[in-house]
Formats: sequence, structure tokens, C-alpha cells
Amino acid sequence: MSAILCSSCGKELEDDNINFCISCGGLFCSDEFDNNSELCQECVKNGCTSLF
Ligand SMILES: [Zn+2]
Ligand SMILES: [Zn+2]
Repeated sequence: MSAILCSSCGKELEDDNINFCISCGGLFCSDEFDNNSELCQECVKNGCTSLF
């Protein structure tokens, strides 16, 4: 019974609201995740999309 928490805001994540960032490896709620780039907002801000 371990709750999964958003790496950014600490909100508890439901099974259908878990987003995995391939750049930093964190798990994020939909608020902190950009579905277009499949990265968290932090990595989008850092421009990690172009590094790969
Ligand atoms: Zn969050
Ligand atoms: Zn990230």
C-alpha cells in the first residue's frame, strides 16, 4: 500500500494519472506533464527534447 506521489507537486497519483518522464525518470501528475513531448514541464523548460 504505497502511494505514488508526483515528483513535482507531491500529489498522490491515481493509476490512470501517472505520467512517466523519459528524460528525468520522474513520475508526474497531468498538471506537471506535457503529453506532446512526453516530458515533465521541468524538462520541457530545460529543453531536454532537443538533446536526444
Ligand atoms: Zn504534480
Ligand atoms: Zn522530467
